[in-house]
Amino acid sequence: MIKGQLGDIGVLGPTGNGLDPADWRGLRDQAYRMLEDALDHIQGLSEGPVWRPASPEARSRFQEPLPRAPTDLADSHARFKQDILPHGGGNAHPGFMAWVQGAGTPVGMLAEMLAGALNANLGGRDHMPIAVEQQVLGWVREMFRFPSTASGLFLTGASQANFVAVLIARTRALGARVRSDGLAFEGRALTAYASRAAHGCVPRALDMAGLGADALRRIDIDDQHRIDLRALRKTIAQDRAEGRRPFLIVGSAGTVDVGAIDDLATLADLARDEGLWFHIDGALGALGVLSPVLAPRLAGIERCDSLAFDFHKWGQVPYDAGFLLVRDAAAHRATFAAEAGYLSRSERGMAAGDWWPCDDGPDLSRGFRALKTWFTLRTYGADALGEVMAGCCDLAGELALRVAAEPELNLLAPVALNIVCFSYGDGGQNRRIVEDLQIAGVVAPSMTLLDGRPAIRAAIVNHRTRLSDIDALIQGVLRFGRAAAKGPNP
Ligand SMILES: *Cc1c(COP(=O)(O)O)cnc(C)c1O
Repeated sequence: MIKGQLGDIGVLGPTGNGLDPADWRGLRDQAYRMLEDALDHIQGLSEGPVWRPASPEARSRFQEPLPRAPTDLADSHARFKQDILPHGGGNAHPGFMAWVQGAGTPVGMLAEMLAGALNANLGGRDHMPIAVEQQVLGWVREMFRFPSTASGLFLTGASQANFVAVLIARTRALGARVRSDGLAFEGRALTAYASRAAHGCVPRALDMAGLGADALRRIDIDDQHRIDLRALRKTIAQDRAEGRRPFLIVGSAGTVDVGAIDDLATLADLARDEGLWFHIDGALGALGVLSPVLAPRLAGIERCDSLAFDFHKWGQVPYDAGFLLVRDAAAHRATFAAEAGYLSRSERGMAAGDWWPCDDGPDLSRGFRALKTWFTLRTYGADALGEVMAGCCDLAGELALRVAAEPELNLLAPVALNIVCFSYGDGGQNRRIVEDLQIAGVVAPSMTLLDGRPAIRAAIVNHRTRLSDIDALIQGVLRFGRAAAKGPNP
């Protein structure tokens, strides 16, 4: 077969050129149907359940052998509609309060489609998509009042951004030679600090950096679930006395379990006095700076050396869209930049361009996450996103009040932001209640453990969630809680 003539590919007819159709008209008609269906799905979200488990039949249809021959595009779309679309994770639905997940928007979806049309690779080179990522970086600097020299880039998520930050802090502590020498002897003394409420990706970042998860001291928390500053100071002093080498403090701007915010300004002072890198994991809370109501709770965030956060959570940008912001661009670059003949830069032509993001992170090929973020910020405006976040916190506050007013319910943690942890009775049935709620599909919280005890956890992240969903949560927990208290375990 001659290249460019692949034969009949179903509804598209014979291919015209490579994998493109000869019959563009047919493709367009099918494309409009797919777009209509996608918009119908988003528009009708609240009419369906939050989540419905996939049937064994649907799952078995996804265990087929590799398709060697073409399949009609319309057929794959029909399969998508039947087997995939109704069985998503639920996070777009207004009743979703589980874990901490963003809902996405129709604008984000459309931007994803446009990015797909361009199929840009943002590792580097001279093209406009790089300027879009730089524009978003500029906006991020502005949000967090960082200097115009600060660097930053999109990464998959805060897990990756926290990891990259640990590598930068390591390189700053040991010098760029660590990149060729490895940690060797000196590296073994490096010690980092975070509260025990810090996200699990923080110890894992130290693990992945080769320092070992035990190089992270998990400091106690106070009654507000913030890092205990006295314990932190004491541990640093002890470690120094024992010959360890403190290099990094990781503050939390919104802990994963309860949404607590460490005293970031005091951490910034402490890190400065001790000569330590100050990183903040702001995965879920940092973007609260966009709300004038929430911003004061994050005071000090503008003083960190590096900040990890997620546009795909409270920013409502479709997955995935993590971000890392770094004050000292030179320290950032010194951690990743490398020479390679095939990546040599030019003054002119496609290999020009003064910012190649592959110098600032582990990825060479990178998608156009910037476009959906640019569209989201520009279309809605940062103020509206801030209002969504403040609205989420209002709903969380309302939920906490209702929990406090119900004798059968107990609030298990203070509510600093948008997460409410509570219990039905003594909590013995919490897990079962959460499972019952998820299967019933009206509202879906998730579970966590606080001091080893099961908690019902409602994280209000979704711009679609309303007071009626909070009512439904309270009613649902009471109903399933009473049933569980009476009946035997399922
Ligand atoms: C979600 C979350 C992370 C991990 O972020 P990903 O984007 O899922 O990789 C880290 N820290 C906190 C506090 C989080 O809420």
